[in-house]
Amino acid sequence: MQLPRFCQTLLVLLCAGLVGCENSSPSDQVFQGKTMGTVWRVTASGLTPEQARELPHLIQQRLDADDQELSTWKKDSWLSRFNQNPSLDPQPVSDNVAAIITSSLYVGRMTEGAMDITVGPLVNLWGFGPNAIPTHTPSASQITAAKTRVGLQHLTLNETVQGNTLRKDIPDLYVDLSTVGEGFAADHLARLMEQQGVRNYLVSVGGALISRGQHLQGQPWRVAVQKPTDKMNQAQVVVDLQGHGISTSGDYRNYYELEGKRISHIIDPNSGQPIDHHLVSATVIATTALEADAWDTGLMVLGTEKAKALAKRLHLAVYLITKEGDHFVGWASPTFKTFMVNDQSH
Ligand code: ADP
Ligand code: MG
Repeated sequence: MQLPRFCQTLLVLLCAGLVGCENSSPSDQVFQGKTMGTVWRVTASGLTPEQARELPHLIQQRLDADDQELSTWKKDSWLSRFNQNPSLDPQPVSDNVAAIITSSLYVGRMTEGAMDITVGPLVNLWGFGPNAIPTHTPSASQITAAKTRVGLQHLTLNETVQGNTLRKDIPDLYVDLSTVGEGFAADHLARLMEQQGVRNYLVSVGGALISRGQHLQGQPWRVAVQKPTDKMNQAQVVVDLQGHGISTSGDYRNYYELEGKRISHIIDPNSGQPIDHHLVSATVIATTALEADAWDTGLMVLGTEKAKALAKRLHLAVYLITKEGDHFVGWASPTFKTFMVNDQSH
């Protein structure tokens, strides 16, 4: 979540047509700012002047608190302190941290470890964490060494009425919540809106988004998955979220080139290598933005065929864009189709 985002993969559409619409109606209020190396944006309808005055500050405060808890870029965050602490004893964790870890571990299990929040040593080795980008492709022995520190079996969350604890069974485990941080933060903003009495809003943090109600023109909030090659913000597919969260993971935004090869920031924990297949992006709709954000990463690692099979088996709402030759091919799972404004999959 720390790499700069130059483009958005999800577009917000506020009118019935698909592309070329205004990005917001004149009467909706839009606030935006920066967090976790990306951009947050809140569009809300029907705010009182007092709400409009206070919201930006409250939003930033909430996001800064999340970042202070979960960032691996801040040395004094709760997560960095957990990572640096070699103790194998159970450590007390907040409900916040317990929630994000629970969802991450669940999706991790369901994807057989494709989505793995202990992948940090490999992420750092490939230069997508706080470490610098390597000047050479990491060697097989470096990858093997990093892999010995990776695996969901090394992390146990214990939730009890007395409190939650998190325990690692190797001292140098490195938990990286970057891939779910945006969804988690988007859900937090949605909760903040509810607490502030805002009933019509759409919030996004990076590539994760969640909405409720309608915008001022009386239309549902509509969100488009952007065409991968597009420079004109064209919609590949448009959905009506119906109060759900949505998140897109794509390997065409964050990458670098090393020794002539394109290096994706999504790492397959099984091979220890950056993903290298034809699945260009995975978009997931789920009850929360956090779940959607966890699934999109797992599906990206799995690749098109396995992602399709899992989406069908678990009735996940998934939209995949795969590169076939010079073309991009979209695929919507049966559940995803129920959110589509009209069937535009092709
Ligand atoms: P995207 O932009 O594709 O949504 P995110 O920014 O949400 O991606 O997540 C990418 C980050 O997730 C990487 O920079 C890395 O920190 C972490 N990551 C990479 N591979 C995995 C993986 N297999 N499981 C969990 N986290 C991963
Ligand atoms: Mg994700």
